[in-house]
Amino acid sequence: MALHLILFGPPGAGKGTQAEQIARSRAIPKISTGDILREAVHNRTAIGERAKAIMSQGQLVGDDLMIGIIRERIDQQDARNGFVLDGFPRTVTQAVALDKMMAGRDALVIVEIAVPEAELLRRLSMRMVCDVCGHTAGAGAASGPGGTCELCGGKLVQRSDDHDNVIRERLNVYVRQTQPLIEFYQNRPTFRSVNGSQSPDRVGADLMAAIDSADSGVAKGVRP
Ligand code: AMP
Repeated sequence: MALHLILFGPPGAGKGTQAEQIARSRAIPKISTGDILREAVHNRTAIGERAKAIMSQGQLVGDDLMIGIIRERIDQQDARNGFVLDGFPRTVTQAVALDKMMAGRDALVIVEIAVPEAELLRRLSMRMVCDVCGHTAGAGAASGPGGTCELCGGKLVQRSDDHDNVIRERLNVYVRQTQPLIEFYQNRPTFRSVNGSQSPDRVGADLMAAIDSADSGVAKGVRP
C-alpha cells in the first residue's frame, strides 16, 4: 500500500515538521511546494522570479504553475511508492487537478492539523528556519536569531514571510482560499483531523494513528 498523504492545515500548524518525520519513517519523499518555491527563488530560476513577489506578500502563486510543479514531481521515481504533500493543494482547483493525477494510484489520505489562530500567530512570529537547508528549528531554538541548525549547522533566521503584516495576510489567504478544501475532502473515508495544539510528539503520535486508521479504510477498498 503506497501512502499518498496530504498534510493539511494553516501556516504554522506544524505541517513541515510532521511531514519530515512521516517521510523519514515511511521512506517516502516529503514534497513541500513552499520549499520548492523558496529554492527556485534562491537559485533565481524563471519560476523563482515569477513567485518571489507573490510569496513576499503572502499571496498564492498561480494554480497552473503549482499544478505543473506537482505533476512533474510526483511522477518521479522516488514518489512511485508514496509521498507526503506539505503545502499542496491550497485551492479547490489544485485539489481537483490532484485527484486527476491520482487516477490508478492508491487513494489520497488527508489529515488536517487543526490549530486556533491565536496560537498560529504566536508560533509564526517566533519561528526560526535554517538559512541553508530550510529546516524549521525546534521550539527550544525559536527564541531568537543567532542559533544554528540542529541538522546542518547553518544559521537560523526568520522567514521573510513570517513578519507580522505578511503573517496576517497568509492567515487571511488560508481562510479564504484553502480552508474551503476541508469541505471538499471531509466526506471522504480517508479524511482525518488531529489536534495540532499539543506538543510535536503528541501531534506526531495522533497523526500516525490517524494515518493507520485512514489507511485501513483504503485497504478495505473504500474509495472516495
Ligand atoms: P509555505 O512554506 O507552504 O508556507 O509556502 C510559502 C509560500 O509559497 C506561500 O505563502 C505561497 O506564496 C507559496 N505557495 C506554497 N505552496 C503553494 C501552493 N500550493 N499554491 C500557491 N502558492 C503556494
